[in-house]
Amino acid sequence: ALNQNLAELSGDINVSFEFFPPATESMEQTLWNSIERLSKLKPSFVSVTYGANSGTRDRTHSIIKDIKERTGLVAAPHLTCVDATRDELRAIAKDYWDNGIRNIVALRGDLPPGAGKPEMYANDLVALLKEVADFDISVAAYPEVHPEAKSAQADLLHLKRKIDAGANRAITQFFFDVESYLRFRDRCAAIGIEAEIVPGILPVSNYKNLLKFAGFTNVKIPQWLHQRFEGIADDDQMTRNMVGASIAIDMARVLSREGVKDFHFYTLNRSELTYAICHTLGVRPKA
Ligand code: FAD
Repeated sequence: ALNQNLAELSGDINVSFEFFPPATESMEQTLWNSIERLSKLKPSFVSVTYGANSGTRDRTHSIIKDIKERTGLVAAPHLTCVDATRDELRAIAKDYWDNGIRNIVALRGDLPPGAGKPEMYANDLVALLKEVADFDISVAAYPEVHPEAKSAQADLLHLKRKIDAGANRAITQFFFDVESYLRFRDRCAAIGIEAEIVPGILPVSNYKNLLKFAGFTNVKIPQWLHQRFEGIADDDQMTRNMVGASIAIDMARVLSREGVKDFHFYTLNRSELTYAICHTLGVRPKA
């Protein structure tokens, strides 16, 4: 079975990597080391998050600019609409376009506590961006349903609206239940979404942080994942990395066998696990 898998893995897999603006100088060094290492795998794009309501948009932009200059990679800033007016968003988009940025990850962003119904949803942002210029746009999708959605079907219809507004692909929230991704992909196809539903892979090396984070997101942590980290949550980092990588590698191989060709990685600004998973998928440095 192993031989057969390796044969399957010779296909053309496309990867993309997500980073976030670092908070300290030492984290900045880690980020650049990771970008440098992962850039060798020639990702189709890399993206940099923007914390909605955090006022750090300038940092997202400057990292994007630096990535483009230092590596020549296609770099996509994340842009949220929950914390900006339409005029501000148009100005930001125009500025990005004028600076040679052609790719954007378009999001609504989380609502601040106590906020009422938002003025814009992500589909409105996609439409606004497309009015400014012909950006390549990625949007978010939720195989296990966005926490605010009235129902799974309503959430799916909202995703379709984003694609119909001009988005080129959807990147999923991270997940561990591969079946839920595969079912979701089927439901997207059934409703007429032709754009790629790119699985977002979170290589886990810090199980405790994962539990904290998964709480806000509706992402199921299956029993088998608890079991794999049982007893090593505070163990040596290298040991946790190996366990985390093996989990993501197992998932990636199943996805690859199910015909998935595009993978997006939530790198958390580290390269070790993501590089190992890409390598196993047959993604190798290109000249
Ligand atoms: P939407 O697609 O607008 O959906 C939000 C909710 O509203 C859903 O429940 C949807 O079903 C519902 N909805 C949509 N349209 C309507 C409508 N017309 N009427 C009523 N309900 C509607 N957050 C950040 O702050 N910065 C980031 O950089 C960032 N990057 C992300 C990257 C990815 C790949 C993913 C998956 C998420 C990211 N997020 C980021 C988180 C995201 O901002 C939150 O999940 C946010 O709550 C929803 O954003 P969205 O773009 O999915 O919103």
